[in-house]
Amino acid sequence: MDTQTVMVEPKNILKVTAAQVLSERKLIEELSQARDEARRVRSDEIDRVKWDVYGAKIRAIEEERDNEIRALEAVRDKAIAEKEREIERHQTVITQAKRILEMLRLSETESLDISEDEVTTRDGTVENLGYLINDLYMKIRLFIITNRKPKNRYSLIAVGRSVFDEPLVKHPYDYGVNVWTTGRRFSILRVLRESHDPELLKKWLSLRKDLATETLAEYERLKQEYVMVKQQYKVEELAELILWKCPQCNNFMTIFDYCGGETPKCYRHEPHVDMVR
Ligand SMILES: [Zn+2]
Repeated sequence: MDTQTVMVEPKNILKVTAAQVLSERKLIEELSQARDEARRVRSDEIDRVKWDVYGAKIRAIEEERDNEIRALEAVRDKAIAEKEREIERHQTVITQAKRILEMLRLSETESLDISEDEVTTRDGTVENLGYLINDLYMKIRLFIITNRKPKNRYSLIAVGRSVFDEPLVKHPYDYGVNVWTTGRRFSILRVLRESHDPELLKKWLSLRKDLATETLAEYERLKQEYVMVKQQYKVEELAELILWKCPQCNNFMTIFDYCGGETPKCYRHEPHVDMVR
C-alpha cells in the first residue's frame, strides 16, 4: 500500500501541551548553539591544518624550488653572457670590415660645391652668407631665406653635401623647409635660427664663432678614419667579400648588402647601370 496516501487517523494526532512546545523550543535552541560551536571548532581545525601545518611546509618546499631554479638560472645566464662576449669579439672583425668597405666605395667624383645661387625659395627671397665649412669631403653653406611663418619670417639655414653618408654618419636634415636646390640634392639641411629681422640672424651668427667647430667635430674624426682606411686598404684585399661591381665607378655590393636575388644597379649614374659579378 502506498504510504503517501495514508491518512492520519484522528487517534494518531499528537496531543501537545504548551509546556511541551516551550521545552522543545528551548532544546532546539541549545542544539543549534552546539551545532554552531561544532562548526567553529572544525573550521579552526581545518584552518590550522591548512595554513599552519601544510602552509608552512608548502612555503618551505617552494623556497627550496625557487633556490634551485635561481641557482640554475645563474649558471645559464653566466654561460649566455660568456658566449655573447665571445660573439662580440668576433663581431668586431665583421663590423670593422663592413665599415672599411663602406668607406672604400665612397664616391669622390661628384662635386660638393654649393654655388651662391643654388638655393631658391617659393618667393625667391634668399641671401647667401658664404661657406660655413668648405673642406675636401664636406661643404656647408649658409643662407637666409623667407619661410612661411607669419611672425618670424626669416630663417638662417645651413645646407650641405658630404662624401660621407649613412650608415657612416647621419646628417641633420630638417624636412619641410621652404627651400629648393637647382643643383644636386643636399644631404645636410638645417634651420639654425628664425627671426622677424634678417639682420638679427646675422648678428646671432657673428656671435656663434664655435658653430663651425661644433659641426666639424664628428666630421674630422670620420675624415681621419677615411684617410687612414684609404692608405691601409685596397679593395682587392677584400675582394672575396665583394659580390657585384659597377663597371663605371668604384661602387660595389658586398656580402653584407641585401640584393634581393636580382642584379643590383649603381644609382650614381643616369641611367642606372647594372652591376657585374
Ligand atoms: Zn657606378
